[in-house]
Amino acid sequence: MSIEAGGCFCAAVRYRVDGAPTASAICHCRSCRQASGAAAVAWLTVPLANFHWTHGTPRTHRSSPGVERTFCERCGTPLTYARDTLPGTIDVTTASLDDPARFPPTREVWVAEKLPWQRLDPSLAHRTAEGD
Ligand SMILES: [Zn+2]
Ligand SMILES: [Zn+2]
Repeated sequence: MSIEAGGCFCAAVRYRVDGAPTASAICHCRSCRQASGAAAVAWLTVPLANFHWTHGTPRTHRSSPGVERTFCERCGTPLTYARDTLPGTIDVTTASLDDPARFPPTREVWVAEKLPWQRLDPSLAHRTAEGD
């Protein structure tokens, strides 16, 4: 079983993921953009049972009804996204992994909210909103 570690920029908050992610996607939604300050955000989806905080405690932010995002209160790195309607799943920012190159995205979601100057990767699947 693969074990992935990651955390925020300043290392105050660290986490571990046991096992492989179930999805890898780039999200172009406005909410991710505002929460991260980036044009788009890459996410890995993992079973919540496989995700563990190993050092420090992140701050939480309700970015939409039923959505909780976490981030480091010291350096600001966005770390996770969880939805009340999917209690068994958590999304982790791919770029906060120690080795993010291991999990290339397979699709781009919420392309309807994409910035006009952001180019889509033609080799990936594209979804207007989220889901398959
Ligand atoms: Zn930090
Ligand atoms: Zn998003």
